[in-house]
Amino acid sequence: MTKYTVLFTLLFSVVLSCGESVPEATISEEKEIEKAEFAIIIHGGAGTILKKNMTSEKEAAYKAKLEEAIRVGYEILINGGTSLDAVEKTINVMEDSPLFNAGKGAVFTNAETNELDASIMDGKTLNAGASAGTITVRNPINLARVIMDKSPHVMMAGAGADTYAKEQGLSIVDPSYFYTENRFNALKRAMESEKIELDHDDKQAFYDPEIKDFKFGTVGCAALDKHGNLAAGTSTGGMTNKRYGRVGDAPIIGAGTYANNNSCAVSSTGWGEYFIRSMVAYDISALMQYKGLTLQEAAREVIHTKVAGLGGDGGIVAVDK
Ligand code: ASP
Repeated sequence: MTKYTVLFTLLFSVVLSCGESVPEATISEEKEIEKAEFAIIIHGGAGTILKKNMTSEKEAAYKAKLEEAIRVGYEILINGGTSLDAVEKTINVMEDSPLFNAGKGAVFTNAETNELDASIMDGKTLNAGASAGTITVRNPINLARVIMDKSPHVMMAGAGADTYAKEQGLSIVDPSYFYTENRFNALKRAMESEKIELDHDDKQAFYDPEIKDFKFGTVGCAALDKHGNLAAGTSTGGMTNKRYGRVGDAPIIGAGTYANNNSCAVSSTGWGEYFIRSMVAYDISALMQYKGLTLQEAAREVIHTKVAGLGGDGGIVAVDK
Protein backbone atom coordinates (compact mmCIF):
# COMPACT_ATOMS: atom_id res chain seq x y z
CA MET A 1 0.00 0.00 0.00
CA THR A 2 1.38 3.37 -0.88
CA LYS A 3 2.05 5.75 1.92
CA TYR A 4 0.01 8.54 0.49
CA THR A 5 -3.06 6.47 -0.06
CA VAL A 6 -3.10 5.56 3.61
CA LEU A 7 -2.53 9.08 4.79
CA PHE A 8 -5.00 10.53 2.40
CA THR A 9 -7.69 8.05 3.26
CA LEU A 10 -7.34 8.71 6.93
CA LEU A 11 -7.21 12.42 6.67
CA PHE A 12 -9.14 13.50 3.69
CA SER A 13 -11.86 11.17 2.71
CA VAL A 14 -15.10 11.33 4.57
CA VAL A 15 -17.88 8.79 4.50
CA LEU A 16 -21.35 9.02 5.87
CA SER A 17 -24.00 6.36 5.69
CA CYS A 18 -27.27 5.80 7.40
CA GLY A 19 -30.08 3.33 7.51
CA GLU A 20 -31.51 3.87 10.95
CA SER A 21 -33.18 6.47 13.10
CA VAL A 22 -35.46 7.86 10.45
CA PRO A 23 -38.96 8.93 11.35
CA GLU A 24 -41.95 6.63 10.79
CA ALA A 25 -43.92 7.46 7.64
CA THR A 26 -47.61 6.96 7.11
CA ILE A 27 -47.62 5.68 3.54
CA SER A 28 -45.91 2.33 3.14
CA GLU A 29 -43.94 3.30 0.04
CA GLU A 30 -42.61 6.38 1.75
CA LYS A 31 -41.82 4.25 4.74
CA GLU A 32 -39.75 1.94 2.56
CA ILE A 33 -37.80 4.88 1.21
CA GLU A 34 -37.36 6.47 4.60
CA LYS A 35 -35.85 3.30 5.96
CA ALA A 36 -33.70 2.56 2.96
CA GLU A 37 -29.98 2.72 3.35
CA PHE A 38 -27.87 5.31 1.66
CA ALA A 39 -24.20 6.21 1.62
CA ILE A 40 -21.86 8.90 0.42
CA ILE A 41 -18.08 9.16 0.30
CA ILE A 42 -15.87 11.95 -0.99
CA HIS A 43 -12.20 12.59 -1.62
CA GLY A 44 -10.09 15.68 -2.02
CA GLY A 45 -7.25 14.09 -3.96
CA ALA A 46 -4.37 11.74 -3.32
CA GLY A 47 -0.88 12.65 -2.28
CA THR A 48 1.56 12.51 0.55
CA ILE A 49 0.34 14.75 3.26
CA LEU A 50 3.36 15.51 5.35
CA LYS A 51 2.53 16.81 8.80
CA LYS A 52 5.38 19.28 8.61
CA ASN A 53 3.78 20.83 5.56
CA MET A 54 0.41 21.27 7.18
CA THR A 55 -0.46 23.80 9.83
CA SER A 56 -3.29 22.94 12.18
CA GLU A 57 -5.26 25.88 10.72
CA LYS A 58 -4.90 24.51 7.21
CA GLU A 59 -5.83 21.04 8.28
CA ALA A 60 -8.91 22.37 10.02
CA ALA A 61 -9.83 24.35 6.90
CA TYR A 62 -9.60 21.25 4.70
CA LYS A 63 -11.59 19.14 7.09
CA ALA A 64 -14.24 21.81 7.48
CA LYS A 65 -14.63 22.18 3.71
CA LEU A 66 -14.82 18.42 3.21
CA GLU A 67 -17.44 18.19 5.91
CA GLU A 68 -19.41 21.07 4.41
CA ALA A 69 -19.30 19.32 1.04
CA ILE A 70 -20.37 15.89 2.21
CA ARG A 71 -23.18 17.32 4.32
CA VAL A 72 -24.70 18.81 1.18
CA GLY A 73 -24.90 15.36 -0.36
CA TYR A 74 -26.00 13.79 2.89
CA GLU A 75 -28.97 16.15 3.17
CA ILE A 76 -30.02 15.35 -0.40
CA LEU A 77 -29.80 11.62 0.24
CA ILE A 78 -31.50 11.55 3.62
CA ASN A 79 -34.42 13.45 2.11
CA GLY A 80 -34.82 10.86 -0.63
CA GLY A 81 -32.95 12.76 -3.36
CA THR A 82 -30.91 11.08 -6.06
CA SER A 83 -27.33 9.95 -5.86
CA LEU A 84 -26.64 11.98 -9.03
CA ASP A 85 -27.78 15.19 -7.38
CA ALA A 86 -25.84 14.36 -4.23
CA VAL A 87 -22.65 13.75 -6.22
CA GLU A 88 -23.01 16.90 -8.31
CA LYS A 89 -23.88 19.27 -5.48
CA THR A 90 -21.25 17.85 -3.15
CA ILE A 91 -18.57 18.30 -5.80
CA ASN A 92 -19.77 21.87 -6.42
CA VAL A 93 -18.76 22.82 -2.87
CA MET A 94 -15.23 21.57 -3.42
CA GLU A 95 -15.02 23.09 -6.91
CA ASP A 96 -15.87 26.49 -5.44
CA SER A 97 -13.10 26.27 -2.87
CA PRO A 98 -9.50 27.27 -3.68
CA LEU A 99 -8.34 24.44 -1.41
CA PHE A 100 -8.82 21.72 -4.02
CA ASN A 101 -7.45 21.07 -7.47
CA ALA A 102 -10.84 21.43 -9.13
CA GLY A 103 -12.83 24.48 -10.19
CA LYS A 104 -11.50 27.57 -8.40
CA GLY A 105 -8.34 25.88 -7.13
CA ALA A 106 -7.33 24.18 -10.38
CA VAL A 107 -3.64 23.76 -11.10
CA PHE A 108 -1.87 25.50 -13.97
CA THR A 109 -0.77 24.07 -17.29
CA ASN A 110 2.63 24.72 -18.78
CA ALA A 111 1.00 27.53 -20.79
CA GLU A 112 -0.11 29.21 -17.52
CA THR A 113 -3.74 28.37 -18.21
CA ASN A 114 -6.18 26.24 -16.24
CA GLU A 115 -7.79 23.39 -18.19
CA LEU A 116 -10.44 21.51 -16.29
CA ASP A 117 -11.73 17.95 -16.61
CA ALA A 118 -14.81 16.31 -15.08
CA SER A 119 -17.15 13.37 -15.42
CA ILE A 120 -20.27 11.91 -13.86
CA MET A 121 -22.04 8.58 -14.23
CA ASP A 122 -25.47 7.20 -13.37
CA GLY A 123 -25.31 3.61 -12.15
CA LYS A 124 -28.98 2.98 -12.91
CA THR A 125 -28.94 3.76 -16.64
CA LEU A 126 -25.18 3.67 -17.33
CA ASN A 127 -25.62 7.15 -18.77
CA ALA A 128 -22.52 9.29 -18.44
CA GLY A 129 -21.24 12.77 -19.19
CA ALA A 130 -17.73 14.19 -19.35
CA SER A 131 -15.88 17.35 -20.31
CA ALA A 132 -12.17 17.90 -20.87
CA GLY A 133 -9.94 20.93 -21.10
CA THR A 134 -12.54 23.62 -20.43
CA ILE A 135 -11.24 27.06 -19.49
CA THR A 136 -14.36 29.11 -18.68
CA VAL A 137 -16.75 26.71 -16.95
CA ARG A 138 -16.92 27.52 -13.27
CA ASN A 139 -18.23 24.09 -12.26
CA PRO A 140 -17.13 21.42 -14.73
CA ILE A 141 -19.15 18.72 -12.95
CA ASN A 142 -22.31 20.64 -13.89
CA LEU A 143 -21.22 20.58 -17.51
CA ALA A 144 -20.62 16.84 -17.30
CA ARG A 145 -24.14 16.44 -15.91
CA VAL A 146 -25.69 18.59 -18.64
CA ILE A 147 -23.81 16.68 -21.34
CA MET A 148 -25.22 13.48 -19.86
CA ASP A 149 -28.76 14.76 -19.40
CA LYS A 150 -29.26 17.01 -22.40
CA SER A 151 -26.89 16.07 -25.22
CA PRO A 152 -26.67 12.92 -27.32
CA HIS A 153 -22.96 12.72 -26.46
CA VAL A 154 -20.90 11.42 -23.57
CA MET A 155 -17.84 13.62 -23.83
CA MET A 156 -17.03 17.12 -25.06
CA ALA A 157 -13.61 18.75 -25.10
CA GLY A 158 -11.93 22.14 -25.45
CA ALA A 159 -13.59 25.16 -27.02
CA GLY A 160 -16.67 23.18 -28.05
CA ALA A 161 -17.31 22.13 -24.48
CA ASP A 162 -16.96 25.73 -23.30
CA THR A 163 -19.42 26.84 -25.98
CA TYR A 164 -21.92 24.15 -25.06
CA ALA A 165 -21.71 25.13 -21.38
CA LYS A 166 -22.51 28.72 -22.29
CA GLU A 167 -25.39 27.69 -24.53
CA GLN A 168 -26.80 25.60 -21.70
CA GLY A 169 -26.75 28.59 -19.35
CA LEU A 170 -24.10 27.26 -16.98
CA SER A 171 -22.03 29.68 -14.93
CA ILE A 172 -19.24 31.00 -17.17
CA VAL A 173 -16.22 32.83 -15.78
CA ASP A 174 -13.25 34.68 -17.15
CA PRO A 175 -10.24 32.30 -17.18
CA SER A 176 -8.58 34.58 -14.62
CA TYR A 177 -11.15 33.33 -12.09
CA PHE A 178 -9.02 30.20 -11.73
CA TYR A 179 -5.85 32.08 -10.79
CA THR A 180 -4.56 31.33 -7.32
CA GLU A 181 -1.12 32.36 -6.18
CA ASN A 182 -0.25 29.02 -4.64
CA ARG A 183 -1.09 27.09 -7.78
CA PHE A 184 0.86 29.56 -9.87
CA ASN A 185 3.87 29.19 -7.59
CA ALA A 186 3.55 25.42 -7.86
CA LEU A 187 3.70 25.74 -11.63
CA LYS A 188 6.81 27.89 -11.41
CA ARG A 189 8.48 25.31 -9.20
CA ALA A 190 7.49 22.52 -11.54
CA MET A 191 8.76 24.42 -14.56
CA GLU A 192 12.04 25.05 -12.84
CA SER A 193 12.37 21.35 -12.29
CA GLU A 194 11.00 20.72 -15.80
CA LYS A 195 8.89 17.90 -14.55
CA ILE A 196 5.22 17.20 -14.58
CA GLU A 197 4.26 16.87 -10.97
CA LEU A 198 1.25 15.31 -9.35
CA ASP A 199 -0.64 17.96 -7.48
CA HIS A 200 0.66 16.90 -4.12
CA ASP A 201 2.97 14.05 -4.82
CA ASP A 202 5.77 13.85 -2.31
CA LYS A 203 8.14 14.75 -5.12
CA GLN A 204 6.83 18.24 -4.52
CA ALA A 205 8.59 18.22 -1.19
CA PHE A 206 11.73 17.48 -3.18
CA TYR A 207 11.20 20.60 -5.24
CA ASP A 208 10.75 22.73 -2.20
CA PRO A 209 11.27 21.10 1.17
CA GLU A 210 10.12 24.24 2.91
CA ILE A 211 6.79 24.27 1.16
CA LYS A 212 4.20 25.01 3.78
CA ASP A 213 1.08 25.40 1.81
CA PHE A 214 0.33 21.99 0.41
CA LYS A 215 -2.78 21.78 -1.67
CA PHE A 216 -4.96 18.80 -2.07
CA GLY A 217 -6.15 17.68 -5.36
CA THR A 218 -8.80 16.36 -7.53
CA VAL A 219 -12.21 15.97 -5.95
CA GLY A 220 -14.67 13.13 -6.25
CA CYS A 221 -17.77 11.60 -4.79
CA ALA A 222 -19.58 8.27 -4.88
CA ALA A 223 -23.08 7.77 -3.50
CA LEU A 224 -25.90 5.29 -3.06
CA ASP A 225 -29.36 6.77 -2.71
CA LYS A 226 -32.46 5.42 -0.97
CA HIS A 227 -33.81 4.21 -4.30
CA GLY A 228 -30.84 1.84 -4.62
CA ASN A 229 -29.14 3.88 -7.33
CA LEU A 230 -25.41 4.47 -7.44
CA ALA A 231 -23.62 7.45 -8.96
CA ALA A 232 -20.08 8.78 -9.08
CA GLY A 233 -18.36 11.96 -10.23
CA THR A 234 -14.87 13.42 -10.43
CA SER A 235 -13.58 16.94 -11.13
CA THR A 236 -10.01 18.16 -11.52
CA GLY A 237 -7.56 20.67 -12.89
CA GLY A 238 -5.33 17.73 -13.79
CA MET A 239 -1.62 17.85 -13.20
CA THR A 240 0.56 20.91 -12.68
CA ASN A 241 2.67 21.77 -15.73
CA LYS A 242 0.65 19.54 -18.08
CA ARG A 243 0.92 20.52 -21.74
CA TYR A 244 -0.20 19.84 -25.29
CA GLY A 245 -3.84 19.51 -24.25
CA ARG A 246 -3.04 16.64 -21.92
CA VAL A 247 -6.18 15.00 -20.52
CA GLY A 248 -6.04 12.79 -17.46
CA ASP A 249 -8.25 10.01 -16.16
CA ALA A 250 -10.83 12.20 -14.40
CA PRO A 251 -13.05 12.74 -17.47
CA ILE A 252 -12.53 9.23 -18.83
CA ILE A 253 -15.52 7.05 -18.04
CA GLY A 254 -14.14 3.77 -16.76
CA ALA A 255 -10.85 5.29 -15.61
CA GLY A 256 -11.64 8.26 -13.36
CA THR A 257 -15.34 7.60 -12.84
CA TYR A 258 -17.66 4.62 -13.13
CA ALA A 259 -21.02 3.63 -11.67
CA ASN A 260 -23.17 0.55 -12.17
CA ASN A 261 -26.07 -0.45 -9.96
CA ASN A 262 -24.95 -4.07 -10.34
CA SER A 263 -21.58 -3.43 -8.75
CA CYS A 264 -20.33 -0.11 -7.42
CA ALA A 265 -19.67 3.60 -7.93
CA VAL A 266 -16.04 4.74 -8.08
CA SER A 267 -14.16 8.05 -8.23
CA SER A 268 -10.40 7.96 -8.78
CA THR A 269 -7.51 10.27 -8.03
CA GLY A 270 -3.83 9.85 -8.74
CA TRP A 271 -1.46 9.70 -11.66
CA GLY A 272 -3.96 9.84 -14.48
CA GLU A 273 -1.90 8.15 -17.15
CA TYR A 274 -1.68 4.98 -15.07
CA PHE A 275 -5.36 5.17 -14.19
CA ILE A 276 -6.30 5.36 -17.86
CA ARG A 277 -4.05 2.44 -18.77
CA SER A 278 -5.51 0.40 -15.93
CA MET A 279 -9.13 1.44 -16.54
CA VAL A 280 -9.25 1.67 -12.77
CA ALA A 281 -12.89 2.50 -12.05
CA TYR A 282 -14.34 0.05 -14.57
CA ASP A 283 -11.89 -2.66 -13.63
CA ILE A 284 -13.04 -2.54 -10.02
CA SER A 285 -16.64 -2.82 -11.15
CA ALA A 286 -15.81 -5.67 -13.54
CA LEU A 287 -13.95 -7.66 -10.90
CA MET A 288 -17.04 -7.43 -8.70
CA GLN A 289 -19.47 -8.27 -11.48
CA TYR A 290 -17.64 -11.03 -13.26
CA LYS A 291 -15.40 -12.48 -10.57
CA GLY A 292 -17.59 -11.95 -7.51
CA LEU A 293 -14.98 -9.99 -5.59
CA THR A 294 -16.07 -7.64 -2.84
CA LEU A 295 -15.53 -3.93 -3.40
CA GLN A 296 -12.58 -3.94 -1.04
CA GLU A 297 -10.95 -6.94 -2.73
CA ALA A 298 -11.49 -5.47 -6.18
CA ALA A 299 -10.14 -2.04 -5.21
CA ARG A 300 -7.11 -3.55 -3.54
CA GLU A 301 -6.34 -5.66 -6.59
CA VAL A 302 -6.60 -2.76 -9.00
CA ILE A 303 -4.82 -0.08 -6.94
CA HIS A 304 -2.16 -2.12 -5.19
CA THR A 305 -1.44 -4.77 -7.78
CA LYS A 306 -2.35 -3.41 -11.19
CA VAL A 307 -1.66 0.34 -10.90
CA ALA A 308 1.27 -0.11 -8.53
CA GLY A 309 2.66 -2.84 -10.79
CA LEU A 310 2.83 -0.36 -13.65
CA GLY A 311 4.59 2.13 -11.41
CA GLY A 312 1.52 4.34 -10.90
CA ASP A 313 0.13 5.76 -7.72
CA GLY A 314 -3.18 6.98 -6.41
CA GLY A 315 -6.40 5.92 -4.78
CA ILE A 316 -10.16 5.68 -5.13
CA VAL A 317 -13.30 6.13 -3.10
CA ALA A 318 -16.21 3.84 -3.85
CA VAL A 319 -19.57 2.63 -2.64
CA ASP A 320 -21.04 -0.77 -3.51
CA LYS A 321 -24.62 -1.60 -4.28
N1 ASP B 1 -6.01 12.11 -11.75
C1 ASP B 1 -5.74 13.49 -12.02
C2 ASP B 1 -5.09 13.60 -13.37
O1 ASP B 1 -4.21 12.83 -13.68
C3 ASP B 1 -4.87 14.15 -11.00
C4 ASP B 1 -5.24 13.91 -9.56
O2 ASP B 1 -6.03 13.04 -9.25
O3 ASP B 1 -4.71 14.63 -8.68
O4 ASP B 1 -5.42 14.51 -14.09
